[in-house]
Amino acid sequence: MTRRPVSDHRRAITHAFAELVGTETVPLTEAHRRVLTSDVLASAPMPAFDNSAMDGFAVRAADVEVDVPLPVATRIFAGDTDPTPLPSGSAAAIMTGAPVPAGADAVVPVEQSVERDGHVRLQVQPDVGAFVRRRAADVAAGALVVAGATVLTPRHLAALAATGTGTVEVFRRPRVAVVSTGSELVPPGAPLAYGQVYESNSIILATLCAAHGAEVTFSGSSGDGGDFAATLDAAVEHADIVLTSGGVSMGEREPVRDLLSDAGWFGPIAMQPGGPQGFTVWRGVPVVSLPGNPVSVMVSFEVLVRNGLRAAGGLAPIDPTSAPLASAVTSIAGRTQFLRGFLRADGVVEVVGGPGSHLVATAANANVLIEIDSAAVHLAAGQEVPTWPLTP
Ligand code: AMP
Ligand code: MG
Repeated sequence: MTRRPVSDHRRAITHAFAELVGTETVPLTEAHRRVLTSDVLASAPMPAFDNSAMDGFAVRAADVEVDVPLPVATRIFAGDTDPTPLPSGSAAAIMTGAPVPAGADAVVPVEQSVERDGHVRLQVQPDVGAFVRRRAADVAAGALVVAGATVLTPRHLAALAATGTGTVEVFRRPRVAVVSTGSELVPPGAPLAYGQVYESNSIILATLCAAHGAEVTFSGSSGDGGDFAATLDAAVEHADIVLTSGGVSMGEREPVRDLLSDAGWFGPIAMQPGGPQGFTVWRGVPVVSLPGNPVSVMVSFEVLVRNGLRAAGGLAPIDPTSAPLASAVTSIAGRTQFLRGFLRADGVVEVVGGPGSHLVATAANANVLIEIDSAAVHLAAGQEVPTWPLTP
């Protein structure tokens, strides 16, 4: 049987996901980790007015003589919107953040002053501009605050708030449903009878999707009987994308393949692990059908689904880099192999565990996938190979 090239299958998925790109406007309080659609400019300069960096006295620097009393003409507090201009030859008591009055050009900190009987003696000769935070010193009105495509961190949100932005336009997060299949599966933590298997695909798929900008809106499971159709119908009700696991290979009782193969594409792709795959649009919703083995699920997501999902949510792709192999590797011709690897601090990559797609606990020690070209059968130590960073 001819195997579909990995890149063809990925392209089919990515293409369908691209239809899902959308935007929405949200308040800053809901914008953490969201992806900005376009540049945001400062609606106001920051600071918006010259203000005091210290509690102290606003003066005209030229009026100050060390230890010679100046009359205290007024007291200015943060939030005062109309401070009286400073008469020449006087000082104004001023608090941090309060507007520096017209006429003043420096602030002397309270620690360097003695105030008594309506006068203040200043212990230092201030430079012009001392302890004055200048209007627009941080950002000018109309200047760029955060660039489009930025994933908003707490720091970006503070910058947006400080420059007067209350709501932002962000990419919609794709809503994903995760469905596992298998009559042998039981939830982790429950008693395990002989022949049963703990269910681990839901948790890895849900967390992988969330890590790449999606919102997981549905998690369901079905056995290998007829209940898969009802579970899938519930999933498409709640989601823009459905990811199923299991039930796609060539055995008997393959519920996903049995229901969907006439409506979509099912077959082997030229990779290992993760050969058996399917892709269908079911009731208008793309359904990516991954195999059941947990390592195959992890590899399939990272190699076939990750960048398409990221693009649907406005996120940039995460592409492979390369590293030299720590030791020789043999592979199967005709299939791209994705071995679990550990990229060391010295930049060399080691193979982690064997190629078996059931070795899920061993795979937890990997931090990259090592891509072995489909034409390669033997690679020597030191050879450069593509390495795909695994989702942290
Ligand atoms: P399947 O593709 O349905 O034949 O499943 C292949 C292998 O993966 C079998 O050993 C299943 O028990 C196992 N498997 C399938 N789904 C899951 C799951 N959700 N969690 C853990 N193992 C699974
Ligand atoms: Mg199964």
